[in-house]
Amino acid sequence: MTTIERIDATPAPQAPPDLIRGILANTGLRMTQQRLALMDLLFARGGRHVTAESLHEELVRSGAPGSISSVYRGLKDFSDMGLLRRVPIYGSTAWFDTELKHHHHFYAVDEDRLMDVPTEGIAVRNLPALPEGYQLLSVDVLLRIRKQYHDTDRRVERCALT
Ligand SMILES: [Zn+2]
Repeated sequence: MTTIERIDATPAPQAPPDLIRGILANTGLRMTQQRLALMDLLFARGGRHVTAESLHEELVRSGAPGSISSVYRGLKDFSDMGLLRRVPIYGSTAWFDTELKHHHHFYAVDEDRLMDVPTEGIAVRNLPALPEGYQLLSVDVLLRIRKQYHDTDRRVERCALT
């Protein structure tokens, strides 16, 4: 299961579900029961990181109908409308972020878990020249991390194996 953690103490401003519904209504996308259920799951609880799989699990648990492929489609539609930000993580499933304000991420590889890192205090220097005809949109820092194991953990592991 996916968990959400914020490193920064200040809660990020989130679009309330009513505002999201209004935006969705203006795009001409059909307000299906599933889209409404997805929006409630995504935007009613503050900043979130989700994958299609984790969101589908939540959807099923909430009792709303929907296949995994329709969840994929919903995430892509919301992302195309700018309501979600896709987080590029190579070699992982697609992650989507309800926090649209620019920020960076820790990615715990063993747990497949994404955590926010505030942009303050992070400086990225000596960027290469961009290919001709391109403009820089953003620099997203992804710090891949893993829990450190201490000697006591290894002893416990060894005991468990024997
Ligand atoms: Zn994030």
